[in-house]
Amino acid sequence: MAHIKLQNIIKRFGDVVAVKDFNLEVEDKEFVVFLGPSGCGKTTTLRLIAGLEHPDEGEILIDGHLVNGLSPADRDIAFVFQFYALYPHLSVYDNIAFPLKAVKVEKPEIEERVKKVAEILQLTDILNRKPSVLSGGEMQRVALGRAMVRQPKVYLLDEPMANLDAKLRIDTRAEIKRLQHEIGATTIFVTHDQVEAMSLADRIAVIHQGVLQQIGTPHEVYNKPKSLFVAGFMGMPAMNLLDVELTSREGKPALYLSHTDVQLELSPWQQSNLNANSQHNDCILGIRPEHITASRESVGRKIAADVHLIEPLGSVNILDLMLGTHQKTQEPILLRVRTHPTFNADIGETIWLDFDDDQMHLFDSGTEQAIW
Ligand code: ATP
Repeated sequence: MAHIKLQNIIKRFGDVVAVKDFNLEVEDKEFVVFLGPSGCGKTTTLRLIAGLEHPDEGEILIDGHLVNGLSPADRDIAFVFQFYALYPHLSVYDNIAFPLKAVKVEKPEIEERVKKVAEILQLTDILNRKPSVLSGGEMQRVALGRAMVRQPKVYLLDEPMANLDAKLRIDTRAEIKRLQHEIGATTIFVTHDQVEAMSLADRIAVIHQGVLQQIGTPHEVYNKPKSLFVAGFMGMPAMNLLDVELTSREGKPALYLSHTDVQLELSPWQQSNLNANSQHNDCILGIRPEHITASRESVGRKIAADVHLIEPLGSVNILDLMLGTHQKTQEPILLRVRTHPTFNADIGETIWLDFDDDQMHLFDSGTEQAIW
C-alpha cells in the first residue's frame, strides 16, 4: 500500500504561514487523524498531500518517491472533503460507480462493489435518486461511498462526517474504522472532534497554528501531553491548568498555587525530578478532573476546596471547586473534579482533594513544554 513522508514542509498564503516546518511519517496501512482547532492548518496539510496545493518548501514522499511535482490524479489517492461535489445529473448509484467506470472495471464487479458500499452507508434505498433531492447527510455519504468504492493507496478524508446526525456519525465512524482495517489503505482523516479522533486513530497528530505539536497513540496524547496546548485541548471536561510557583523549602522543592499560600505536596519522585530542573519558577500544573479524588474527610495528604457548583451528568458528577483566592485580584481559583454520581456535597461546603501523583503534569510557563 503506501508510506507517506512529509519533510520540513512549509506552506504560505501571503503573510499567513499555514503549515510550519511540518515533519511526519505515516506508516503503510496506518490510520492517522489530524486534530486541531479551526484554522490550524489541517486541511492545507491534507491538500498538500493530495497535490491540490504545493509546498513552498520541503518534500512530500509516497513510498519513497518524491511527489511534489505530481498532479493529484497521478498520486493514486482518494479524497473526500467536507464540501463534496456530486454529479447532479447522475443517480446515487452512478455517482458512486463513477470512479470505477472511469477506469473501466467490469460491470458485475462495479455492481457488487457499489452495493456493498451502499449497504455500509445505508444508501441502498436511495440508489436511484438524484443529488438534488438528497439531504446534506445523504450527499455526504454518497461522496464517502464514491471514495470507498475505489481501492486507492491512500485515503484522505477531511471532516467527511460533518453533516451527519449524531447517531449516523457514530455508526459511520465504526464502519470507516472497520473498512479501513479490512482494506488496509493508509488513511489520513481530518477532524476537530477529539472523540472522533480518539476512537478512529492509530495515531493522532495534534496541530496548532500550523505546527505539529505531538504525534502519538490516543493513549499517549491523552496521558502524556508534551505541551500545554495538547494538555488543554484533549479531554472533556478539559484538564485543570493551575498557575503554580516552584520554590525551595528546607532545601527541597515546594509547589505553591501562585498568589496563594496553598501548598501542593510533591511525591519523592516528583521532587527528585524537579531537582534536575530547578531553573523553573513559574509553572503550570495540569491535572484531569478524573485524576482527583474528592472526599468529605480531611485525613492524609489532602487539599481543602469549597464546592462552587455541582453538575450531575447521570453517570458522573462534575464539581466546580474553589481552591483559593488570588491574593491580589481576589479572583477565585477554580478546579473541576469528576466524582461518582452518588457523591453528595452542598454548595459552599468544604471538601478534601487528593491528586493522583502519577497523573500530575507540570509545564514550563515560558516554553509551555512539559517538565513532567
Ligand atoms: P478548519 O477546521 O476550519 O477547516 P483547518 O485547520 O483545516 O481549519 P486550514 O484550512 O488549513 O485550517 O487553514 C490554515 C490557515 O491558512 C488559516 O489561517 C486559513 O485562513 C489560511 N488559508 C487556507 N487556505 C487559504 C487560501 N487559499 N488563501 C489564503 N489563506 C488560506
